Amino acid sequence: MAFEGLGERLQATMDRIKSKGKVTESDVKVMMREVRLALLEADVNFKVVKEFVNQVKERALGSDVMQSLTPGQQVIKIVREELTDLMGGENQKITLGTKPPTVIMMVGLQGAGKTTTAGKLALHLRKNFNKKPMLVAGDIYRPAAIDQLETVGRQIDVPVFSLGDQVKPQQIVTEALDHAKAEHLDTVIIDTAGRLHIDENLMNELKDIKGIANPHEIMLVVDAMTGQDAVNVAESFNDLLDITGVTLTKLDGDTRGGAALSIRSVTEKPIKFVGMSEKMDGLEAFHPDRMAQRILG
Ligand code: GDP
Repeated sequence: MAFEGLGERLQATMDRIKSKGKVTESDVKVMMREVRLALLEADVNFKVVKEFVNQVKERALGSDVMQSLTPGQQVIKIVREELTDLMGGENQKITLGTKPPTVIMMVGLQGAGKTTTAGKLALHLRKNFNKKPMLVAGDIYRPAAIDQLETVGRQIDVPVFSLGDQVKPQQIVTEALDHAKAEHLDTVIIDTAGRLHIDENLMNELKDIKGIANPHEIMLVVDAMTGQDAVNVAESFNDLLDITGVTLTKLDGDTRGGAALSIRSVTEKPIKFVGMSEKMDGLEAFHPDRMAQRILG
């Protein structure tokens, strides 16, 4: 279960301060040292940890908190609020165009969950927004990527546009957009190629596709299990493509949580969805307040 270690440690720390009638400055400092260690151990980016701890300390040591009747509770409330803020505050919805078709471009490293998430998003948009989506097979390099997308499409009954693996992705996308318009499909979700590492060719191709498709949403898919790497990947993709949102996959695994807690702060781009299973209905809107609640128990 994600966040298990972090949750347990933070809850133990909070319980200690909650039971105190009077809270001193040194109690807060001891507590924040424990919070700092718990966050670092959960693989949260060290700069993010530093800012977070300072922010909580500054607020917690304010006289209104220290002199209140329930200082322990106040401090816990501050930690919860700051944790929510760190993860982006409010849920950010997917961006939809005002004129069809809405174009969503999926990007990310190989194995992050792009293809799976493309299918999940198609289902989400059809179910909740009554959209008519189409998936586009833009990954021509990974063997079986096209087959995989076609399998996903069949599973959720969503059409897949493919021109095989001998046509350049730029052309595939151009033709896909024409096809969607002709068929009155109002949402185009483009699966793009991933690599094991970020490389220049991949990025140039993605920039080309962005230029052609003019997407409303550039959704970066990152694997929560990869911790700090996920944050570095997010930073690189954001620098090059100016992404509009993140989907954090595999949060059903036993990730320590560092990526979920760092990405927003490092990239200033919102986590919009989280992947909670391999199944097509395993996509959930990301709510920072609920996530903070889950971590703090
Ligand atoms: P791509 O290379 O980025 O297109 O990645 P895939 O969509 O092929 O996903 C890689 C693997 O991760 C597959 O086995 C997926 O079933 C799995 N996967 C994707 N998202 C999730 C998720 O949210 N939870 C779990 N448990 N597995 C996932």
